[in-house]
Amino acid sequence: MSSPDLKFGKKLVKYGAVDFNACYNCGTCTAVCALSNEEESFPREMVRFSVLGLSEDVKGSLKPWLCYYCGECSTHCPQLAQPGELMMSLRRYLISCYDWTGLSGLLYRNLSAYIAAFLFIAIGIFGLFFSGIWNQAEWMHYGHLFEIMAIASVFTVILLPNIIRMWYATVWKQTKKLHIKTYFLSLPELFIHMFTQKRTLSCNDEMSNKIWWFEHFIVVIGYMGLLFTTVVLDWFAATNILIIVLGYFLSAVVFIVSFHFIFNRMRKKTEKSSFSHPSDWFFVIWLLLMGLSACAVRLLIDLGLLSAYFWLYLLHLTILVQWALVIVPFGKWTHFLYRSFAMYFDKIVKDTANTAVRTV
Ligand code: SF4
Ligand code: SF4
Repeated sequence: MSSPDLKFGKKLVKYGAVDFNACYNCGTCTAVCALSNEEESFPREMVRFSVLGLSEDVKGSLKPWLCYYCGECSTHCPQLAQPGELMMSLRRYLISCYDWTGLSGLLYRNLSAYIAAFLFIAIGIFGLFFSGIWNQAEWMHYGHLFEIMAIASVFTVILLPNIIRMWYATVWKQTKKLHIKTYFLSLPELFIHMFTQKRTLSCNDEMSNKIWWFEHFIVVIGYMGLLFTTVVLDWFAATNILIIVLGYFLSAVVFIVSFHFIFNRMRKKTEKSSFSHPSDWFFVIWLLLMGLSACAVRLLIDLGLLSAYFWLYLLHLTILVQWALVIVPFGKWTHFLYRSFAMYFDKIVKDTANTAVRTV
């Protein structure tokens, strides 16, 4: 067990944690959690670590990622200590620990930093436009080029090193063993959880949970499809009717589902939508704006009106750049990536431990 960090509780509050110090360790949350078992006992363990300031133990744990935030633990907690929201806050905290740039932590802790980053990008793009540096065709060309460059560079420069740091803290430091065969055989876990998030369905049998899972599944497919259509198939320049219709369809899917996410967050009817961190809002709002603005730009192209309303393309580009440079590498989007790797790493840790037991 590591030595306590006396400021850990205060740090977690900045990542969205509420009232977890009210916990009196009754264990109800762990008892009601459908995803918690003898091997993966949470959330009480994480609440204890947080109350005691055991930040190093939290950093080495994958358990915050094994929670799919159904909110059952918070509903049943007699002390209203909001263990579900604590698990969510721990995930944000862990993202800031994995991120070598330090920007995730800065953005999660400061709303003003988020707003400044968005404004900086918007002023940069509109400033460049009014400087007259490129004509409209060049803006479209460089906009498309940016999409390709952003995907490649954000992944290789920021996300990949962060995943390696996550692996070092949660796998290597815990096992000190490298069984290549285990890494290879566990790989399907990564892709299955990345695309299906099927563990959500184990949270509970309620229809609302199934709908929630289905919407997430649809939005992941819609988002990936839209990315492929705009970047690889170059939707805005496409003349093939199938590509054009596919782009409209996918942007409409992204727009409709993200609108429903926003609607649910505003209603606060479920435990998991009761607390929304600014990063949660930015994620769903920018997802909606991307679907909407992409659709509007393509419609202007089809109507031959883009030149007259070119500011709309610039708006779409601004939303896209903000998404690619702020939300994807440092914001809520990373949950999608780290959670999938957490499921993969968890399998590796367990299989490595089992191999060690069999060897003994
Ligand atoms: S149910 Fe509430 S009080 Fe009981 S252990 Fe969990 S967080 Fe603590
Ligand atoms: S939010 Fe749901 S999955 Fe997460 S710890 Fe609580 S009961 Fe378990």
